[in-house]
Amino acid sequence: MCGFVGLIGVEPVAPALCLGLSAVQHRGQDAAGLGTWDQGALQVYKDLGKVADIFTSDVLDTLRGTSGIAHVRYPTVGSSTRNDAQPFMMRRPAIVAAHNGNLVNLQELYAHLASRGLRPVSACDSEPILLLVGDELLRLKLVGHTVDDLVIALRASMERLRGSYSVAAVLELDGKESLVCFRDPHGIRPAVYGRRGDSWAVASESVSLDVLDFERVGDVPPGTVVVLRKGEEPVIREVLRKEAHHCIFEDIYFARPDSVMAGARVYSRRWRLGEQLADEWATKGLEADVVVAVPDTSRPAAQAMAERLGIPHREGFIKNRYSGRTFIMPDQATREAAMRLKLNPIDEIFRGKRVVIVDDSIVRGTTMRRIVQMVRKLEPRQIHVAIFSPPVTNACYYGIDMPSADELVAVRASGVGEGTMEERLALQFGADTVTFLSERGLRDVAGDPICAACFTGRYPVAVDDAERCWIVRDRRPENTSAAPS
Ligand code: SF4
Repeated sequence: MCGFVGLIGVEPVAPALCLGLSAVQHRGQDAAGLGTWDQGALQVYKDLGKVADIFTSDVLDTLRGTSGIAHVRYPTVGSSTRNDAQPFMMRRPAIVAAHNGNLVNLQELYAHLASRGLRPVSACDSEPILLLVGDELLRLKLVGHTVDDLVIALRASMERLRGSYSVAAVLELDGKESLVCFRDPHGIRPAVYGRRGDSWAVASESVSLDVLDFERVGDVPPGTVVVLRKGEEPVIREVLRKEAHHCIFEDIYFARPDSVMAGARVYSRRWRLGEQLADEWATKGLEADVVVAVPDTSRPAAQAMAERLGIPHREGFIKNRYSGRTFIMPDQATREAAMRLKLNPIDEIFRGKRVVIVDDSIVRGTTMRRIVQMVRKLEPRQIHVAIFSPPVTNACYYGIDMPSADELVAVRASGVGEGTMEERLALQFGADTVTFLSERGLRDVAGDPICAACFTGRYPVAVDDAERCWIVRDRRPENTSAAPS
């Protein structure tokens, strides 16, 4: 998972890009990069680490221009090296570009690029997209590309690319400096654009537009390119559009609650998922004294659930914002200490109460098991775990780092034993009950169509066995910092 920001008509552009990028730092903490366009001259600076650490004022002073692209990276493909950080640039035609998403047919693409004499220098799947689009433009003509040329080149490229991709780029079209943004035919990963006077911005999430005081105009439609120039109205051209399948996991877990995507505020969707969960939970005939969110993602859903059930919501866990990554702990005692360093429970919120602990999702189940163990020591009367998404039963091949199916706790609990999967999980965690939101409930809130393949196994873009093997093999176990737990 990654995040990007693109700007045009802003001077100096580099500090503004840096500010917009900081708003989507949650989308990737491994590396960050910034590429600027200064009257056709491209400059890129990228490094490992977080935005604030990389982009000192000295670095920003060297990056001149009035348009550019910035990117934060969390690698699901490739490695954690500076070489794989984004954006990427090419000199002929001159383009600087970055992307968010995951290609499923990278091997096929490498073979095609090799047949055209093109060899990526990184293991990142953004570079092949840039090489492919650049090559298609050069096939049309060597210089003087127009928007029509770009649409033709993108159509040819999209017919080869499979997977999820939202791309932001700066290049010259019709003799003008142009900021472009396009999404895959299903629009799996988000992209939004907005304006401030004569200037334009694109971003993975609308929060970047907010901090830069740009007004959100709308989402970049699936399979469509938006071309933006200073002082001009946007040119919006459909390239290759299929049924929309916005990733619902963005709303559940990944995106910031103050972002607007696919026509709704993420906060509002989480709130409605909480209400829906409350309705489904109540049909089980259960009762509770207090609802507690596992911070921070689940707070709106927990508050909504409490309000719907007519019981209080309390902050039962205090999250340590400075704990950072926890390294692999050698024994149970230190693992528990690490958990409490991250998330410390408040005794009196739990002691003697019937508690509902609300979380966004359960993937491997290790975090929830530790949370329940920690709360059990405070002697509550009952612990009910309530999850505002269905059980994750399938891997994601479109850019969210989830483990393969055999590591998913809901899959493991579905196998053998007595009772339902939820009952078996409750036993495993040491909880009284576990409740997941139903798939129907999710769809009622999210609206159709969405990508919910990690819950249903119905993938909007087919992935064959060889591609699955390759993607799973390429995922590195240390890439867990931004992954759901
Ligand atoms: S499989 Fe899940 S995480 Fe992946 S794109 Fe679809 S909804 Fe999002």
